[in-house]
Amino acid sequence: MASEPCDVCERSVRIAGGIGDLWNFAFESTQGMTLELADGSEFFLCFDCMESLPEDVEPTAEDVADLRERTDPVEEDGHSFWHWG
Ligand SMILES: [Zn+2]
Repeated sequence: MASEPCDVCERSVRIAGGIGDLWNFAFESTQGMTLELADGSEFFLCFDCMESLPEDVEPTAEDVADLRERTDPVEEDGHSFWHWG
């Protein structure tokens, strides 16, 4: 089990092994994955941020940057809550 920071909210996200193993692992233990965009760029996103990306079109690096702008970095001090919208 490893963790990697989400490129949008900066939360550290638990991932199950390497990306190649992702689909073989219990999916619930994984909270994010690397997203390969149509333009060839790659971002590591938690599922929450991934759900915030547009669904009707292929997300682009611009959408990720835009989402990042709208998302406050999560402070992992155990007290902060995370608000959407
Ligand atoms: Zn995130």
